[in-house]
Amino acid sequence: MPSAVNPRNGVTKFTNCRILRGNALVIGDLWVSSVTGKIIRSQEAFYDEFIVPDEIVDLGGRILSPGLIECQLNGAFGFNFSTLMDDMSQYEQELKTLNQKLVETGVTSYVPTVTSQVPKLYHKVLPFLRPSGHRRAAEDGAESLGAHVEGPFLSPGRNGVHNANTLRQAQTFEDIEECYGAANVNPPNNGQPQPVRMITAAPEQGNMTKLIPEITSRGIIFSIGHSEATYEEASAAVGAGATMITHLFNAMNPLHHRNPGIFGVLGIAESLPRPYFGVIADGIHLHPTTVKIAFNAHPDGFILVTDAMHMVGLPDGSYQWTNGDETNRLVKKGTRLLLEGSNTLAGATITLIECVSNFLNWSGASIPEALRAVTATPAAMLGLEGVKGTLDGGADADLVVLSDEDEGSGVKLVVDEVWKFGDRVFKRS
Ligand code: ZN
Repeated sequence: MPSAVNPRNGVTKFTNCRILRGNALVIGDLWVSSVTGKIIRSQEAFYDEFIVPDEIVDLGGRILSPGLIECQLNGAFGFNFSTLMDDMSQYEQELKTLNQKLVETGVTSYVPTVTSQVPKLYHKVLPFLRPSGHRRAAEDGAESLGAHVEGPFLSPGRNGVHNANTLRQAQTFEDIEECYGAANVNPPNNGQPQPVRMITAAPEQGNMTKLIPEITSRGIIFSIGHSEATYEEASAAVGAGATMITHLFNAMNPLHHRNPGIFGVLGIAESLPRPYFGVIADGIHLHPTTVKIAFNAHPDGFILVTDAMHMVGLPDGSYQWTNGDETNRLVKKGTRLLLEGSNTLAGATITLIECVSNFLNWSGASIPEALRAVTATPAAMLGLEGVKGTLDGGADADLVVLSDEDEGSGVKLVVDEVWKFGDRVFKRS
């Protein structure tokens, strides 16, 4: 029986909620522990042992989803990950502040993205972007799952806003080590992962396709992007171990009926596994119908990303941006972000939950299908099935409470609460 005075046990019970389970929202309860930071595996054991939760959270029928996972974020709230500072302790401080603000948007873990840069910058900043969840501290905010280096091994014809002076080619893995720093792309001996989790590169440049097995053998995901690869070249990259495509359709050759290009690998029905792919659903990078076609081509590989720049969360205006050896200005107007004096898109300024709402309204997909694109699917892409992106017992207790508000023009998902490792870190006022 429960004792008269229950010692606090760090257990929270969520009740009266619609829980995201696979492709359904299931009415039920969920128990989490802030001591282990995990979702409790067997609720029955708790009933048998008469454990009383510290707190019961009645969600009044709202949605309980795993925390959102962002796979392409260049910065936010005024801080860009591709920034070299004279005093790198300032970088660490800015990163800390970003993580605490980012978590309030519902993003509980993410892959900080560094664009094409000179080696010196990679060597300095990547150690700060290594996976950060080992402390399992809710107050740290959003957790890095490791860095995404987007470039500089890109096609000069598809560099977008990446500084052309920084682009290079790799002939051997030593070229990759020299660029990013050997310690950043090789697992250390202490069992911890290395800072880099994902590389976006053009497989047709230099000797890159042959280097893909070297990259993936180190636990690094190879993503095809900023590339002029033909269908055959993209297929060869997938055959060599590429499991991801960076912002599908953007910075690559468009689908041609006689050469389907990179998009074509989503149609592969032979022995190759189809890769995952990121899609920017900001209403600017892609037409809504294009997003819908991409989803229907391979729903299990569909991942929503923001590709947001550091102006996300800031007011409209003109902002300085150091890009490799150049300093440019970017103009933010609403969710549109352009290189000053041009029509070149320079990333996005949208939050991940806004992308989910956009996708919901454009595609006719269900809420579980839309949420899967920012939870279970990115977790699977990153090799974190059962750890992140799920509400199954034993997974990390990273949660978001969502309201689905019908605005007449469509459904809008709103982040009401965020929980990290079993502790509440945000509540909407
Ligand atoms: Zn890009």
